[in-house]
Amino acid sequence: MNVRVLGCHGSGQLVSGENGPVQCGTCGFLVNDQLLVDAGTVGSRLYLEEQRRIRVVLLTHAHFDHIRELPTLADNLVGEIQDPIVIAAIPEVLDELHRHIFNGTVYPDFFRLPDPAKPLFVSRALPPGQETRLCGLGVTPIPVNHVVPTVGFLLREETSTVLFSGDTYHTDALWQAAGEVDGLQAAFIESSFPDEMAELARVAKHLTPALLAEEFAKIARPELPVYAYHLKPRFRAQIRQELGRLGIRHLTALEEGQTLVL
Ligand SMILES: [Zn+2]
Ligand SMILES: [Zn+2]
Repeated sequence: MNVRVLGCHGSGQLVSGENGPVQCGTCGFLVNDQLLVDAGTVGSRLYLEEQRRIRVVLLTHAHFDHIRELPTLADNLVGEIQDPIVIAAIPEVLDELHRHIFNGTVYPDFFRLPDPAKPLFVSRALPPGQETRLCGLGVTPIPVNHVVPTVGFLLREETSTVLFSGDTYHTDALWQAAGEVDGLQAAFIESSFPDEMAELARVAKHLTPALLAEEFAKIARPELPVYAYHLKPRFRAQIRQELGRLGIRHLTALEEGQTLVL
């Protein structure tokens, strides 16, 4: 499975990195060139021909940082593709998308445009806890513990599976399901705030590095590669330092532009 990191932060910001400026973008992961996990960063980081290849967009939840470039994608692709793009999520997330974004006020309804008989986007409601085949992958959404309805995903390609946590606080079902998977290759786990902001993390239902370690331990696979993401750019350096001190053997803080073969 090929995972290209278009954006992996909890907000958008230009920050100073060790090797010069880093343009942090919100979450968007392009899998095998065809399936996008969250649409925080897509239109602004891909050439048009790359955007044309996207067939499915999976959404973990409807928070703006995870859907903000869906309107951009629609604008770029209208009139450019033959078959509609499938927007796949649990029913609550699809409902929020229709009501609050593609409602003809905030943005045109591309689930009916340019032609109701041949729209740009079609919805696909995913049953939680069950695997659905999309783009040759087995996609299993598992509800997690965030302030709005949210899932993490298990993505399976033949015998290889990767986990995306979504935005979450303490949770159990996702880690339990991951622990039962043969061929688990990697876990992408959110880590939004530094440890000293644990109270804000509790209220906003996010993880800190210390909480990530607690959650990761629930998978009971200490050798598993872990990619921390959704770092808030303001605290990026501090969070990365704290992640480095956790002692998790194969833990990496994800960066924009990385491509992982898993
Ligand atoms: Zn988020
Ligand atoms: Zn969120």
